[in-house]
Amino acid sequence: LPVSGDSIRRRFLDFYASRGHKVLPSSSLVPDDPTVLLTIAGMLQFKRIFLGKEPRKVARATTAQRCIRTNDVENVGQTSRHHTFFEMLGNFSFGDYFKREAINWAWELTTKEFGLAPERLWVSVFEDDDEAFSIWHDELGVPVERIKRMGEDDNFWTSGVSGPCGPCSEIYYDFYPERGDSDVDLGDDSRFIEFYNLVFMQYNKTDDGFLEPLKQKNIDTGLGLERMARILQKVPNNYETDLLFPIIEKAAELAVVSYTEADEQIKCYLKIIGDHMRAIVYLISDGVFPSNIGRGYVVRRLVRRVVRTGRLIGIRGDGNGNLEGAFVPLLAEKVIELSSQIDSDVKTSAPRILEELKREELRFVQTLERGEKLLEQLLTDALSRGPVNGVGPCLSGKDAFLLYDTYGFPIEITMEVAQERGVNVDMEGFDSEMDNQRRQSQAAHNVVKLAVGNASELTESVPDTEFLGYDTLSARAMVE
Ligand code: ATP
Ligand code: MG
Ligand code: MG
Ligand code: MG
Repeated sequence: LPVSGDSIRRRFLDFYASRGHKVLPSSSLVPDDPTVLLTIAGMLQFKRIFLGKEPRKVARATTAQRCIRTNDVENVGQTSRHHTFFEMLGNFSFGDYFKREAINWAWELTTKEFGLAPERLWVSVFEDDDEAFSIWHDELGVPVERIKRMGEDDNFWTSGVSGPCGPCSEIYYDFYPERGDSDVDLGDDSRFIEFYNLVFMQYNKTDDGFLEPLKQKNIDTGLGLERMARILQKVPNNYETDLLFPIIEKAAELAVVSYTEADEQIKCYLKIIGDHMRAIVYLISDGVFPSNIGRGYVVRRLVRRVVRTGRLIGIRGDGNGNLEGAFVPLLAEKVIELSSQIDSDVKTSAPRILEELKREELRFVQTLERGEKLLEQLLTDALSRGPVNGVGPCLSGKDAFLLYDTYGFPIEITMEVAQERGVNVDMEGFDSEMDNQRRQSQAAHNVVKLAVGNASELTESVPDTEFLGYDTLSARAMVE
């Protein structure tokens, strides 16, 4: 391999260490910060220092931070660059250097250390950031055609609804410079990849949205390790780098398919499995066990998605003919094997992780098999009824709720399966059934309100009340 993922991580940290940065360990995926659910970026462990609430111990630091972004879960396998779990390499200045050094070092790292051709690099700056524009253009010679001024959505970074923030400047790699400079969209995943974001952290966003200048100007950056690996290893997407591909190959082996010969749909399923397995293993290693609330529910959903996706590509049981067995632990073993440079604690907690995953998978498979039979019948009925009032075949909210409530069958899986069969699900009907049940239920629900940062979609994907479906099922199954 020309450049391994591990060597990219090491070279990044060495580059900044030799420029006065202290190499610090990654913090946990569970942040010490009530405003975000999971660690979404390298800056989180330094937030109080940025805000001036805690004295800095060093002026400059560099880390390889493990991150989870559940807001990107729908992108997994669809784009070539998004993961739920990824590593963000960062260099940080706490009231020390600012824009000029940050930009110059990022350029040197990218073009000299990693040797990317300057004519393939594009940069973005915040719309009115003339200073950053001038450093890129006048000092480093990036032509004006390849510097894009962009608005708040792309070039003003905030870690959450409030907190330290500032304008940012990003570096993109162009896979097809021959396509020219006109009508360029840097968000075009088939041509460009954003790999480095430099945040000029100089404000605090207050709860009411007011930007107050921080006492000190800081630097916060993030370079996606898997993205740089993809560029340097010259593979078509992040999944085919040495950081993820062995997991995908293991899944392909269990499904008895070949990744290279597989069609796009199967490839996509394999990518989802490879991606989610890393998130699952690192989350459990950081103490997040599958459950029905908050972070635990994130893990549970990821495990369920792997189990179901695995079944879609033909993985049954432990892949060795033992249909009573579990396959998720076998994939987890591969993740653990690859973990030593990412988080050395994972190997220590391996037995616990494998045990937990086996139990979780076997429990879910029971639920799944019961629900699948019923859903299959309900979908056949819906298809034979055909369109009603000009609307295509539809599964009623009542039926979706029956599956969820009585069979413990997750609604997102009902939706996925129905969609595959060309049937809509009446979500309004489902929601109103849920509301009814909530109103009727006298049970004290454990309400966990978790404020989350960076994406309102994250809030939507995490239930704020306990998910009772599965336990309701097991309780009933026992009574019956
Ligand atoms: P994108 O626009 O591609 O979604 P982003 O602007 O949301 O990326 P930042 O918040 O700027 O990303 O994070 C800094 C860097 O972390 C990115 O430039 C990228 O290299 C990496 N990164 C961000 N999100 C992901 C992800 N879901 N998977 C892999 N790497 C990521
Ligand atoms: Mg993003
Ligand atoms: Mg972006
Ligand atoms: Mg960005």
